[in-house]
Amino acid sequence: MNHPIIPIVVLDDAVKQRKRQAPKGRRVDPAALAEVQSLLRETSRQPDMLIEHLHKIQDRFGHLSAAHLAALAQEMGMAQTEVYEVATFYHHFDVVKEGQSAPAALTVRVCDGLSCEMAGAKDLLAKLPALLGREVRVISAPCIGRCEHAPAAVVGQNPVPMASAELILAAVRAQAIRHEPAGFMDLAAYRAAGGYVLLQQCLAGERDVESVIKTLEDAGLRGLGGAGFPAGRKWRIVRAETAPRLMAINIDEGEPGTFKDRTYLERDPHRFLEGMLIAAWAVGIAKIYIYLRDEYHGCRHMLEAELDKLRLTPPMAGMPEIELRRGAGAYICGEESAMIESIEGKRGLPRLRPPYVAQVGLFGRPTLEHNFETLHWVRELLEKGGAWFASHGRHGRKGLRSFSVSGRVKQPGVKLAPAGITVQELIDEHCGGMLDGHTLYGYLPGGASGGILPASLNHIPLDFDTLQAYGSFIGSAAVIVLSDKDSASDAARNMMRFFQHESCGQCTPCRVGTAKAVTLMNKTSWDLALVAELSQVMRDASICGLGQAAPNPMDSVVKYFPQELS
Ligand code: SF4
Repeated sequence: MNHPIIPIVVLDDAVKQRKRQAPKGRRVDPAALAEVQSLLRETSRQPDMLIEHLHKIQDRFGHLSAAHLAALAQEMGMAQTEVYEVATFYHHFDVVKEGQSAPAALTVRVCDGLSCEMAGAKDLLAKLPALLGREVRVISAPCIGRCEHAPAAVVGQNPVPMASAELILAAVRAQAIRHEPAGFMDLAAYRAAGGYVLLQQCLAGERDVESVIKTLEDAGLRGLGGAGFPAGRKWRIVRAETAPRLMAINIDEGEPGTFKDRTYLERDPHRFLEGMLIAAWAVGIAKIYIYLRDEYHGCRHMLEAELDKLRLTPPMAGMPEIELRRGAGAYICGEESAMIESIEGKRGLPRLRPPYVAQVGLFGRPTLEHNFETLHWVRELLEKGGAWFASHGRHGRKGLRSFSVSGRVKQPGVKLAPAGITVQELIDEHCGGMLDGHTLYGYLPGGASGGILPASLNHIPLDFDTLQAYGSFIGSAAVIVLSDKDSASDAARNMMRFFQHESCGQCTPCRVGTAKAVTLMNKTSWDLALVAELSQVMRDASICGLGQAAPNPMDSVVKYFPQELS
């Protein structure tokens, strides 16, 4: 048998030299490398810092150029494709390819989420480009967590509540960083009001771990980010896992209609930080990561400053290391496993479970994952007792809930109300009633994913486990109120566009299903058989809650608002 002849190529020295100077991929521009090195300074080059470093470049240059991405990859010892795929996953990174021109130095983001759309965001988006000129980029943004101030916009990093064209123009001219809201409690004020005494009682043995966890259980405290898992049970599960154990705190708050975490955080950050440190003590946490929504620039600056103060005068010996991590504009990173991927510096793709993050979470370690508000309540619960919290409630439900209310009510905002309150009671007792000239037509009890209920169901208790029978759920208690001037199908279309935009793309039923649903819902007459089939496939076969819940608003229209489809 004849063997093929394999040519042997001998490289001469000059060729070898050329190969060394031209590694695979884009060549690194020395000037771009020097710029990246001066921005990163002495910070870690570990891969989990990738998103933090991308932010540094984006903040400094207003975009991410191909040259800077290549330089960052070299500096961090990563493949260029790894850096590129992360940079292009997140909405807040502007990746500029070779030959493309960079965006304007200043960006104005106008929220086109449901509450803002109802308050006139489309008109603003139409007006602003001509008013602001070519030096300013105007784009729409899918919810920026300021629904109580609709329509809301962000100029650079500065929010503009109840935005008009004139207010946005003034903000563009001023470009001033806004100050803390009235009543802000910094570390000194918090300590003067008895803050961190409870933590010290725990450390001194005046309270033991079992009694602390028992109080949370007696109170019935559940995860307040949407999933509602009992907080005390979660502490027990993670505490039983092998050390080192980590903690990841979710302040991504991306569900349209939700703004409670920001409202509490920007006024009383140490109440949450004390709850966090008590959890760390009880569970035996080695290191804490706080993941904060990128839109909350003011909160980030404030939290960095307060954490610095806390490190200087720590309230406990051996305080765990605390890292503040910045999201980058991806709703899916509110999902716990996607958030963990993001903290690890990767794209926010939800993980398949099991294993659960309590066993195999951040960096493969057992992880206590909590929403901000759950920890915000720890101090008050321990001081007043579980029975105090459980003594609140209405219509057979127990506890308190922080409702983020927006839409057609006189006084939108965060309303602390009894669990189980009905939407009518919430509107009448906490929101000053409906806006003049508006009557209740429907409401979204749990943000974008919780479905839409009609005014005829204004008497059902709002709480975990009470709305499933109606094809709905409370989630993070984001209540958006619709009036007779609104259309449920318009609201559902807005939500489905949002899900299409925010699908991480990992699985077909969600990636293709949300796009297909938008097409079906844009037709004047909906193909109801196809809508039902699509909805079932998305529910049954999507990997995570985004795809599984995305059909809720669409199905609600079919079930409760058929008059809009005929
Ligand atoms: Fe991603 Fe959607 Fe699949 Fe979730 S359901 S993993 S968001 S594609």
